[in-house]
Amino acid sequence: VKEDSAETDVYRGSPALLCRAMLILKLSLLFAIAPVRAEANDWASLRAADNRLASAAYRLSIADISLCPTRVPVTGLVLHELGQYPPRQRAAAAAAFTLGRGIGVISVVPDSPAARAGIAPNDEILSIDGKSVVQAVPGTLVPASFDRMERTLAILRGAGPEIRLDVSRGGSARTFTIIPMPGCAADVVLLPSHRRNAWADGTYVVVTTAMLDFVRNDDELAFVVAHELAHDILGHRDRLDAAGVPRGLLRSLGVGAKRVRETEIEADRFAVRLMAAAGYRPAAAVEFWSRFARGVEFPDPTHPPRDARIAALKVEVEAVGSAASSAPDGAAPK
Ligand SMILES: [Zn+2]
Repeated sequence: VKEDSAETDVYRGSPALLCRAMLILKLSLLFAIAPVRAEANDWASLRAADNRLASAAYRLSIADISLCPTRVPVTGLVLHELGQYPPRQRAAAAAAFTLGRGIGVISVVPDSPAARAGIAPNDEILSIDGKSVVQAVPGTLVPASFDRMERTLAILRGAGPEIRLDVSRGGSARTFTIIPMPGCAADVVLLPSHRRNAWADGTYVVVTTAMLDFVRNDDELAFVVAHELAHDILGHRDRLDAAGVPRGLLRSLGVGAKRVRETEIEADRFAVRLMAAAGYRPAAAVEFWSRFARGVEFPDPTHPPRDARIAALKVEVEAVGSAASSAPDGAAPK
């Protein structure tokens, strides 16, 4: 994995470089946590950043389920587990988050089904609908891995209209029942990294902490998340595969590059519609892109020229704007 090439381009990892993005996700989730993150203050920042990102994803996922072909149960749970952290970070993470053998609740999206059910940060989930998610604490030789989180998220995605959680709270056993909301699939993962980036891999959306720091407000964050969600929701990865567009670096050659550019514009347009549906300010898409693109060159031919991209975004923003202008003032975006 040559991290150098995953630079300050929100679109770079998606889906043009899906293979590598997946590799990064598999190999080094949370790997980029510097030792300094072990300080209490930084664990608190990680929790807050996780919650901020998950809250945007939650709001987008339930905004208009008619936009997505398949629906999943959405809970508002923001989860993590010890094995995601590099070995040298685990003792500090265990202490900061009371993480043990279960799946930890790092935070809960406000007003979500999980919040309504009474789930709280630092609850430790032991089983979901009777299926145990308890696992031995990983040894110091076990590298960081996302595998266990993937299995847990898959259980939640396949859950029914009620989800029963057996939880340890401060050492005492509790049981909670979550009534999930139907939503578009939006499993969003925060990756601590100094690189401003976000990408979609067909199932997950990954956003780095540096990107979270770069966005000026939650409207811009919503655009980043919605753009990547669009790649997953619209099945761009499968579509490009079916069209025979090669993955990896070959993707940037010939007719494949043109098809990838089309998916980028399509994801931008979908993102603007999703933002509007969720009550975000669609014009933030143009503001984000104008600022983000400044000074960044795109030698990669899979990426539309920035002016063309901004022009296409403006058209879409005006379209959703005029559609929304007849709405009552009370529906104004936050
Ligand atoms: Zn993209």
